[in-house]
Amino acid sequence: EIIMPFSSFRELNAAKEKNGETLFANPRNAAAGTLKLLSADEVERRALDCYLYHFIGQVPGIDTHWKALEMASQWGFSVSDHRRLCQNTDQIMDFLDYWDQARADLPIATDGVVIKVNSFSLQRTLGMTAKSPQWATAYKIKAEQAVTRLLSVVFQVGRTGAVTPVANLEPVLLSGTTVKRASLHNADQIALHDIRPGDMVYIEKGGEIIPKVIGVDLPSRPQNTLPFQYITHCPECGTLLEREPGEAKHFCPNRWECPPQIKGRIEHFMSRKAMNILGGEALVEQLYSKNIIKDPADL
Ligand SMILES: [Zn+2]
Repeated sequence: EIIMPFSSFRELNAAKEKNGETLFANPRNAAAGTLKLLSADEVERRALDCYLYHFIGQVPGIDTHWKALEMASQWGFSVSDHRRLCQNTDQIMDFLDYWDQARADLPIATDGVVIKVNSFSLQRTLGMTAKSPQWATAYKIKAEQAVTRLLSVVFQVGRTGAVTPVANLEPVLLSGTTVKRASLHNADQIALHDIRPGDMVYIEKGGEIIPKVIGVDLPSRPQNTLPFQYITHCPECGTLLEREPGEAKHFCPNRWECPPQIKGRIEHFMSRKAMNILGGEALVEQLYSKNIIKDPADL
């Protein structure tokens, strides 16, 4: 498994931020993106690492997974030091409990533990299904969660007119960062969880940069609150919102007059991967508000 340590990940994102480029959401995406690069020099600079988890082939005297990993380690491959040979289910459960907390101190991101049958001959007896071995199973650790108060819901209108509800939260510490905003996805998700301003809500950091609200602590709900009413009109231009059948998001159809859509298109046109014109959101805002530009051609 090829991995990017947090240290390399932070350096890479800091450099990207400086250049005004889109940040990687997590080390996994960054590692995958790096492997697609054509420049070997650039790949080397990004300081990836590689761990060996499985040994293919047969070596005389090596009849267990554990011995195989020891051998690979002696040969100089990177093998995780955090493996453990368990004799029974209790020892496995202890190991899982331990890493539930301790993984926060690892230099790499991890979301779980793989449990394997040690003996190669038992592995062969157990065999495979069409998709996966019968002698190994993955245990996923719960994503980190926090509870905080939902202060208000605001709506952002994007370049395409898509409306995204965003939660303003009482600041709370989650996975080492202070979180003040979280995604609420769309109207269906808000209705499904019956999320109301004033509620204590659970937030979770998945693979994304922005955490998401995943539920409500109902017993602590303040009295006299009402179900949340989703907006019917664009918060930016007042146009009646539309929602296509089967679409999760509401859209503002006022494509040519709705300010965030106009500004978003111009920013998109100027962005690094498009025309690569220097100048960001603030400049576009200035030129737009002074009525100097209204579409990319005005640049
Ligand atoms: Zn609008």
